[in-house]
Amino acid sequence: MSMIFSGNPLARASAERPGEAWIAARKQAGLFLPFWQNRPFVAGGRAGFRPWDRRWEGATAVFLGLDGAQALFAVEIGGEAEPVLDGGDFQEMRAAAYLLPVADTAICGQAKALLDWHTRHGFCPNCGHATTFADGGYRRICPACGAEHFPRTDPVVIMLPVFGDACLVGHGARFPEKLFSAFAGFVEPGETMEDAVRRELMEEVNLAVGTITYHASQPWPFPSSLMLGCYAQAHSRDFRIDGVEVTDARWLTKAEARTRLADAIEDDMKMPSTIAIAHTLIRDWAG
Ligand SMILES: [Zn+2]
Repeated sequence: MSMIFSGNPLARASAERPGEAWIAARKQAGLFLPFWQNRPFVAGGRAGFRPWDRRWEGATAVFLGLDGAQALFAVEIGGEAEPVLDGGDFQEMRAAAYLLPVADTAICGQAKALLDWHTRHGFCPNCGHATTFADGGYRRICPACGAEHFPRTDPVVIMLPVFGDACLVGHGARFPEKLFSAFAGFVEPGETMEDAVRRELMEEVNLAVGTITYHASQPWPFPSSLMLGCYAQAHSRDFRIDGVEVTDARWLTKAEARTRLADAIEDDMKMPSTIAIAHTLIRDWAG
């Protein structure tokens, strides 16, 4: 099973999309995915693409890519009240991710991250002047100081410490009740991915690790992270929770992890849901 928000099928046409005439021509026959307050429009169990609506005049529309010959865009619809559109409704992104085909979750995630970036980058961080839209949505330019701004992607390490036949999972202070998962944190300036894995595990559970192995990544559009999934070989089973970010942690054997991922044990411990890369890390390791 592929992870949600990953496996985006669209051709992004990065060579063509800086051309304003090219984008304008694609818009003429384009289909548009409406977003309202970071929620995608969902219709018939799919991402609800539809033709341009005159009511959207002036709204930010970003180019997502080509699906075959079909150009796809996303459009940000403002307003306090939920807009009424035929055949579907606006759904919270996480909830929608459970329902939609995986390819649609990837497209919705791309659209959400990109639209959200435009919403929050209307002004130049260099000089404060209003910025202008360019490259179909993949660049903003400051007409006052000439600075160019590009959509952000923030790397986050997410790692499963392993030792022999066991892996360590933790309960974060901000997690839902009973949830135990992999450990995670933002990569800081000047760090490699491996540095960030080591630092986070030392800070959160005082666990020393050796070899770090990259496994898989997942775009996570809340608002614009890229989760870098790793395994970290622990030097021993000795750990000590920090009691602040992590309030509990336990070693699980492969057999127990498999049973728990199948939801076969009803107790005070829950595994990450299938939409999260933490689930994939534990499942792929447990076999
Ligand atoms: Zn500027």
